[in-house]
Amino acid sequence: MYVKVLIETRVKSNDMTFTYHVPSNVEDNLLIGKRVLVPFSNRTVEGFVLGYDAKTDDYEIKDIIKIIDDEPVLNDELINLGIYMSKKYLCPLINCYQSMLPKALKAGVKNGGGIKKLLYVKLNDNVINADVKVKRQLEIIDFLKDNKEVLKSSIQSKSSLSKLIEKGIVLEYYKETYRKVETELDRKEILLTKEQKLVSKTIKSYLNKQLVTLLYGVTGSGKTEVYIDVVKEVVKSGKSAIILVPEISLTPQITARFKGVFKDEIAILHSSLSDGERYDEYRKIIRKEVSVVIGARSAIFAPLNNIGIIIIDEEHSESYKQENNPRYSTLDIAVERSKTHECPVILGSATPKIESYARAKKGYYQLLELPSRVNNKPLPNVSIVDMKKEIRKGNAIFSDELRNKINDRLIKKEQVMLLLNRRGYANYLTCNNCGFVFKCPNCDITLTYHKTSGMMRCHYCGYASKKLEVCPACKEKSIKQMGVGTEKLEEKIKEEFPLAKVLRMDADTTSKKGSHNKIISSFNTGEYNVLVGTQMISKGLNFPCVTLVGVINADVSLNIPNFRSSEQTFSLLDQVIGRCGRADKEGEAVIQTFNPDHYSIVCASNHDYKSFFNHEMYVRKKLNYPPFCFIALIKISSKDFNYGIGEAKKISNYLRQNLKNTSVLGPSIASVLKVNNNYNFSVILKYKKEEKLYYFLNQIIKIYEGNAKIKVSLDFDPINF
Ligand code: ADP
Ligand code: ZN
Repeated sequence: MYVKVLIETRVKSNDMTFTYHVPSNVEDNLLIGKRVLVPFSNRTVEGFVLGYDAKTDDYEIKDIIKIIDDEPVLNDELINLGIYMSKKYLCPLINCYQSMLPKALKAGVKNGGGIKKLLYVKLNDNVINADVKVKRQLEIIDFLKDNKEVLKSSIQSKSSLSKLIEKGIVLEYYKETYRKVETELDRKEILLTKEQKLVSKTIKSYLNKQLVTLLYGVTGSGKTEVYIDVVKEVVKSGKSAIILVPEISLTPQITARFKGVFKDEIAILHSSLSDGERYDEYRKIIRKEVSVVIGARSAIFAPLNNIGIIIIDEEHSESYKQENNPRYSTLDIAVERSKTHECPVILGSATPKIESYARAKKGYYQLLELPSRVNNKPLPNVSIVDMKKEIRKGNAIFSDELRNKINDRLIKKEQVMLLLNRRGYANYLTCNNCGFVFKCPNCDITLTYHKTSGMMRCHYCGYASKKLEVCPACKEKSIKQMGVGTEKLEEKIKEEFPLAKVLRMDADTTSKKGSHNKIISSFNTGEYNVLVGTQMISKGLNFPCVTLVGVINADVSLNIPNFRSSEQTFSLLDQVIGRCGRADKEGEAVIQTFNPDHYSIVCASNHDYKSFFNHEMYVRKKLNYPPFCFIALIKISSKDFNYGIGEAKKISNYLRQNLKNTSVLGPSIASVLKVNNNYNFSVILKYKKEEKLYYFLNQIIKIYEGNAKIKVSLDFDPINF
């Protein structure tokens, strides 16, 4: 038997398969979609079997070395989906297939990813009248008669058990087991409100249709309950469902809710699982033991058959865009799969992406709304504090208003959440004498001071060095800390509020497995009363005792040089404000900013998505940004500055000459010029309709492929510039 194998070669976009012979001792009638090890020019490489082949006599055909998978990891649908992605994002086919597999299945993950086996014991049915007189042994036999099979470790008298095994009366054997991943939330039956019922009924009427629906529902409007209701119906009809949630933050609480309903019918895929757990969850899907999959971005590739619905919760989240090859948009993939399965795609959000809401208004998507909170709980009252005035009063971190309100809540034994979208202690360190600023030697960016570890760290490449007390330039001992990060905020709260018991949630405190969950549950029990964090605290969390949300500095996201900065600011504020007043007590929020009149801040304080949308559309139209055009970004990166900028110029000239309906901007310096010793440049394309676009972009990719001095890659609808 001969097979076509796709492998990773140096000339990547040459998506060619190679023919290999399958020796009779490994022959297998289900090879397509499995991974194999094959010899390739003196190396052993991993490849995907994509088809069978006939023998040719033109060249010598080598044998495959090994079949990696027991069950195919790619089915026909996923094989075709890879081809679609490779064409749409102009990236190597093999990268598309690689991105579909969970990390635990990838090459290099050797331990932890395997099958877990436990030792069991049971009575040997062939032994009818066992000659046993010892009391302990008789007890074990009675116990096994009642229980059929038990974990060997659950039997206390080990020596008696061993005797029975020796005599052949009891058998011991290994059995595969799944690692238990998630605690499920006990669930009270919930009766949907009239509004929820109507939305749910409408979505149910879309089942079996290939439609995209935007569900715009304010925070706490009960979207998740609607999803649950619809998915129940899908499962009842014998079909399966994919539910996507943004990375980590949302998963513990939402997955627990789903697990509480769907029990063993659901597989959970997200990044805080161990490799072993992820492997087990994936195996449940491949073996068709589950009909519901909930997970982060890559769960969109779950190899389910007969998909009845795909739900993308918090659809505006940036985590739905993959930031390395293939730079796919999860929505594109969802829509492509929904065509195959003829099923609806539901996008849910309290702050839809501008493009999504625009498409819904134009009628490309169905639009459903849940404009108020469940049982008409009011949305929090929000006040905006002008920090320019506060600074004059000497209030650098807490305005008078926020300080008073925090004190008030702590006295009342209520809880407070404070958002500061910057981690670390000080944003940068500078010399008060000569103005020297500590920068990363590999990147064009300042180092952030982390007090707990005493280190200065680069948030781009991970470079770290001990904090210096003496300026390396002028040798003076006058290093000053500038700016405030979450670590310093935590310290300040402890200093200023004696009643506060503070928890911090950011990338630094959640790097260990389970730490994220631990923070959430400690805050939930009321052991702590203040939760400080980065944007991680803004999404999906549900703490009934939080009655005050404070935004320390709303301008952090506003100052990012990106056309989406207003949208991101609005969405972040709206989401974090939505964290309070979710139960009986009313909530309130305070936003501190240097731009109190900015429309994204004003609209967020009024919970007014629609006004924000209208204003933002006006700005986008004037400046010609999406949804009024598409954007593609060409990223050019080289260790040699002059070579990099030179080639970037050639690329932009070439495209300018050939793409007549596109505006070609740049080359310009990327938002951070140097990262990891590579200089980054970008050429930006804005277009509406450009028939030859793919042809010319492909030419460029071909020219630079295999050129070790420069890396050229494409990003359609980029998030970072
Ligand atoms: P969203 O996903 O829109 O933020 P959720 O589905 O999380 O909203 O609902 C917010 C809160 O209201 C949750 O605590 C949820 O359990 C509760 N809830 C939702 N729907 C109902 C309902 N019909 N009756 C009672 N409580 C509900
Ligand atoms: Zn760096």
